[in-house]
Amino acid sequence: MPKIYLIDVTNRDGVQTAKLGLSKLEKTMINIYLNDMGVFQSEFGFPTTRHEVNYLKANLELAEMGVIKPLRLGGWIRAIAADVELAFRYIPNINHLNLSISTSNQMINGKFQGRKKKHDVIKDMTEAVDKARAYGAESIGVNAEDASRTELDYLIEFGLAAKEHGADRIRYCDTLGYDNPFTIYDNARALAEKIGLPVELHCHNDLGMAVANSIAGAMGAIDGGQDAYINTTVNGIGERAGNADLIAVILAATKSKDLGQRYELAGPVKLNMAFKIAKFASYAFGVPIPRNQPGVGANAFAHESGIHADGVLKDPENYELYNYEELGRGDPEFVETGREICTGEYSGISGFSHVMSRLPVPIKFPDRENASQILELVRYANVESQKPLVEDQLIFIAKYPDIVKKLLTLTPLAEEK
Ligand SMILES: [Zn+2]
Repeated sequence: MPKIYLIDVTNRDGVQTAKLGLSKLEKTMINIYLNDMGVFQSEFGFPTTRHEVNYLKANLELAEMGVIKPLRLGGWIRAIAADVELAFRYIPNINHLNLSISTSNQMINGKFQGRKKKHDVIKDMTEAVDKARAYGAESIGVNAEDASRTELDYLIEFGLAAKEHGADRIRYCDTLGYDNPFTIYDNARALAEKIGLPVELHCHNDLGMAVANSIAGAMGAIDGGQDAYINTTVNGIGERAGNADLIAVILAATKSKDLGQRYELAGPVKLNMAFKIAKFASYAFGVPIPRNQPGVGANAFAHESGIHADGVLKDPENYELYNYEELGRGDPEFVETGREICTGEYSGISGFSHVMSRLPVPIKFPDRENASQILELVRYANVESQKPLVEDQLIFIAKYPDIVKKLLTLTPLAEEK
């Protein structure tokens, strides 16, 4: 039976969102958390963007070291041969790529303004796939941008051409959040049946249906005999009204009526990391988790009214569909209310050593020289993020200083070698 895989796109669609972004260290932490959770793939960035290069390489190195494993790290580029060439020039060992091009009449006419016709779109895409194959890409997804506003016949023609040239998946992008569960089910099923490739569902939330559409699309793909790959972001962060929320998608896929029996997630996902990754993304993006967010919001397990409180006290299942412990909630949180020593971009060795010695697993440095080096990296990490680092980041820096040095190295306008 085909299964549902998760491809999280926080580090690509999430960070390209207006007014929001992540530092390279924060992006790396997201990859580590996604890996620990058991997510299949992280769309970890833009291989043709110069300031991403050191970050992408450092994360691929973490993958080689086994620190980020088995999570797949996939890059996003435009579906043109020149972008594939550039991606492999900058990141020679990039293994997984998604190649994106617009397929709707609206975008072909509105964006390309007559420079490209429908057959040019297919030609560009197939040339890009050929090139990526020639460079030895291990997996290639082809993205039909604005697929939900594209005629189905053309979408099938596009998908068949992609398949013929060796693409592994077709990404159905509901770029404007235009679909509803019924339309996306039909489309995903038709693509699965007619093209015979796994289907990725990339859904936006402009009509409040991103999660429902992702699930319905996955059902369509599976009923059409193919694996489904749902694109998510942590806390649903994404362009405009956002993308399908990672945690809500996992909850829907595993808890919704009759769903889990027929449409299963591939491999175990550690839902008990939900609270941790949601809180980290909220902190890193500087965007609070909505109080009523499924599973991880402040009110997700709060009961006040008489009948509800009484009912949940008698048996939580009266008013809760799932348990808070499953999401990794329930631990008390300690907030320092007295004297506090912080680390920042102007920290000194004494305060820093104090902070590191008070971590849950204290870090002691062999000598002052070593402590100074780690402190220097922490200071640079603070320059980039402009907010205090969380414990996991401090531990990561102390553990992998060479990687962190690469993550923090930005050399704008440097001569290309
Ligand atoms: Zn998107």
